[in-house]
Amino acid sequence: CIPVICVDGPTASGKGSLAALTAQRLGYHFLDSGALYRVSAFAATRAGVSLDDAAGVARIARALPVQFEGDRVFLADEDVSEAIRTEAGGMAASKVSAHPEVRAALLALQHGFRQLPGLVADGRDMGTIVFPDAPLKIYLTASARHRAERRHKQLISKGNSTTIVRIQQDLEARDARDMSRPVAPLKPADDARLLDNSDLSIEESADQVIGWWQGTRPF
Ligand code: C5P
Repeated sequence: CIPVICVDGPTASGKGSLAALTAQRLGYHFLDSGALYRVSAFAATRAGVSLDDAAGVARIARALPVQFEGDRVFLADEDVSEAIRTEAGGMAASKVSAHPEVRAALLALQHGFRQLPGLVADGRDMGTIVFPDAPLKIYLTASARHRAERRHKQLISKGNSTTIVRIQQDLEARDARDMSRPVAPLKPADDARLLDNSDLSIEESADQVIGWWQGTRPF
């Protein structure tokens, strides 16, 4: 059975960077499941389908011509990496991700990323729903303040002006919605290991995950 390491957690917890670095160090494939929700919302808007139209967005998600090349994301031949990674893109993704039909439509696509020699999957429900048999599940957390400070740095470096307080409010609103929704609410899997990275560098977090992985697998 092809091994999967799941990295779930709230918005801006650093899951994406941790999962990508862990995948790189292990030579595994990497799945950024949030990008699939972002691209679905983007493609729906492009096609004139309302984000509230669950069946319409699901139809698009089921036949999504998405490709990953390194950290670039393509919709058919178009590089949509920047377009989907905006705050508005995150909100749109969060909206379509609340439709059970859309989540079901993206399931087979996500399972397809499970390829040899292994996969590190980043998201909200990797350990609870998409790969429930994964031998290692991480639930990454960091205080809302730490997450807001990190996101603030990223946004400022891209030339956006906003405040930490404003970002923290947005993060907390998105967390509350992701945790309280009836479908696939954000929560740790029963067998997940909690990792609080508030005071850890990304390398230290990856060391911890790889240490757990070596303890999990008979190498
Ligand atoms: O991880 P990222 O910020 O790119 O995800 C965008 C949104 O997509 C999240 O706020 C969440 O609502 C949704 N999502 C999800 N399940 C996943 C990944 C993302 O519901 N596995």
